[in-house]
Amino acid sequence: MNSNFDVGIIGGGPAGLNAALVLGRARRKVVIIDEGRPRNRVTKESHGFLTRDGIAPNEFRNIARDQLRNYPSIQFVEDIAKEITGRDGEFLISTEEGAVYKTKKILFAVGMKDLPLDIDGLSEAYGRSAFVCPYCDGWELREQSLVLIAKGDRGFHGVKTLLGWTNSLTICTNGPDEWTDEQRGEIELRGIKIYSAPIKKIESKDGFVQQIKLADGTLIPCTGVFFTPKLTIGSKLPQSLGCEMNEAGSIVVDSFGKTNVPGVYSAGDAASEMYQVIAAAASGAITAIRINSELLEETWGNIEKINRI
Ligand SMILES: Cc1cc2nc3c(=O)[nH]c(=O)nc-3n(C[C@H](O)[C@H](O)[C@H](O)COP(=O)(O)OP(=O)(O)OC[C@H]3O[C@@H](n4cnc5c(N)ncnc54)[C@H](O)[C@@H]3O)c2cc1C
Repeated sequence: MNSNFDVGIIGGGPAGLNAALVLGRARRKVVIIDEGRPRNRVTKESHGFLTRDGIAPNEFRNIARDQLRNYPSIQFVEDIAKEITGRDGEFLISTEEGAVYKTKKILFAVGMKDLPLDIDGLSEAYGRSAFVCPYCDGWELREQSLVLIAKGDRGFHGVKTLLGWTNSLTICTNGPDEWTDEQRGEIELRGIKIYSAPIKKIESKDGFVQQIKLADGTLIPCTGVFFTPKLTIGSKLPQSLGCEMNEAGSIVVDSFGKTNVPGVYSAGDAASEMYQVIAAAASGAITAIRINSELLEETWGNIEKINRI
């Protein structure tokens, strides 16, 4: 049994790492348990984080972990948290490797993960020339011939968004478009072609998309693809502890990362629909400050109990 941790952080992506940094600097004893499967591991470069634009996701995490080594109260563990029991002040985290950690508070920074991609050829191009977020990767594909695979309201929003990066846009709905006549009309009015036949295959070379083949034989040449991924939360542990979830499948939190379960917090993609590294890191920092405030309140008046390192 590894005892006396103030905070157990599940997940060592930008949210969990930044939370650990803030808590370590606040002299809190922290264990951060990470399985090492961040959502952006398929991509070569991560964009949009000031001073780190274009960095490889792995390098970002390695720099962060190096910096955490400056704080002896932070323990980084490569393992999978598989069960959490207990309550506020005395949680027990059991891991795949058989370790047990006793912590006062829990922070879920477990991210989101993609459900298996169900289009032939998409996984070969994912992270190279097929992406999910134009804010992350649109600049690199600006003014190229792009295909957006999308349908329904989210897809309609995607069409409007992607036009900010290219005027050469084609839509594949891969089946019924689920649009109103008005939405379809608005898209066509802008000269954008819509194909609804199912996609047979996305053809690429070394990860670079060349064309999309539809089931009716149509070929659409393109150099990049955007699509709407199907996501699920990175771990079922929040639900098993009783955390309230929203319709998008993320954890319901207040503006400081507090869930409905006493002593349990969440940050990053798991608790937001703003899937950005800088937003995840920022929410990790904010949540860490909130957790530290709660711990300080609990020990106020009883200095002996402050868990100083
Ligand atoms: C293809 C792609 C490209 C992207 N490009 C960009 C970009 O250019 N710029 C940008 O800002 N954002 C980008 N993103 C979004 C970015 O990846 C996320 O917003 C960010 O990683 C969220 O950080 P996080 O810490 O919340 O979660 P993650 O980075 O996903 O980390 C969660 C961690 O928790 C671990 N974990 C989960 N469950 C457990 C468990 N039970 N026990 C132990 N560990 C566990 C996971 O293995 C993982 O390591 C991209 C996403 C994708 C899919």
